[in-house]
Amino acid sequence: METSTDGVARTGSGAEAGAPAAGASAVVGGSTGEVVAAAVPEGRATRPAPPNSLSPSRAGDFMQCPLLYRFRVIDKLPEKPSEAATRGTLVHAVLERLFDAPATERTAPRAASLIPGQWDRLREARPELSELFADEDEKAAGERLARWLGEAERLVERWFTLEDPTRLEPAERELFVEARLDSGLTLRGIIDRVDVAPTGEVRIVDYKTGKAPRPEYAEGALFQMKFYALVVWRLKQVIPRRLQLVYLGSGDVLTYDPVRDDLERVERKLLALWEAIRLATESGDWRPRRTKLCGWCDHQAVCPEFGGTPPPYPLQVRPPESGAAAQGRMGPD
Ligand code: SF4
Repeated sequence: METSTDGVARTGSGAEAGAPAAGASAVVGGSTGEVVAAAVPEGRATRPAPPNSLSPSRAGDFMQCPLLYRFRVIDKLPEKPSEAATRGTLVHAVLERLFDAPATERTAPRAASLIPGQWDRLREARPELSELFADEDEKAAGERLARWLGEAERLVERWFTLEDPTRLEPAERELFVEARLDSGLTLRGIIDRVDVAPTGEVRIVDYKTGKAPRPEYAEGALFQMKFYALVVWRLKQVIPRRLQLVYLGSGDVLTYDPVRDDLERVERKLLALWEAIRLATESGDWRPRRTKLCGWCDHQAVCPEFGGTPPPYPLQVRPPESGAAAQGRMGPD
């Protein structure tokens, strides 16, 4: 899941890692390897609360910049919808809905025909998205919207050059998963697609509307997939056979076959990350980390790196211990 290309709990800031979500339970299990139950979290808490779970997106936020994590998860500061993120949400919705059709009807024209309806549905669910194309100049706004919808269509069409949906019968789509580790840490997230072979082997698939990373950055891209693999492993006691990232922006497919060592390493990393988050939560010491990604951050106005002042910390603070040191150590390796 790339930055903000997700659906309901994906485009929001902190929805996946915020306060307890009503109905937030999901199970991947069953002796046949079938994913048997799922539930999507219902909304989010409105009052600031200490984080109680971790998702790939929020783990990525903390590794990128601890202060960004605080703004999203604890302060829950609003963020403006972006064209790129919303296009990602739209494309995900279309690819998910296409599987409602019988296999032989899952064609590119059929997928393209779903775009207007899914865009209407998204705007209905999130009226603020209409602001994206609310220029004063109506003609210009209309042209921009048409261009944007055309880009979404090209991404959807490219998918057909990478996978053949007439030969796929996903076990699950947009599956909310949640697992509690022995340490007490709860991991959660949404998997775009789960395929289960007749042999019971599980493949986890994620769509990206951006471009594939250069090989030296592939490990970072796989972090999210290994996170999901760990959750599935903990829930189902089966290590997924394959992790698959489908890059619609560049027309690439990145796959990885995880082994137990990979997932144990990810678990150790997540536990260290969670400990750093716990220390920062208790001390209130959330360090900004300025990088070129700050250009995409909505919170520069309240970020000390850009001359701003964060809002008062809304949680109770304990005397700082080694939170800063832990944050300094935590990198997106
Ligand atoms: S502007 Fe940069 S340093 Fe500041 S909160 Fe955002 S990501 Fe962090």
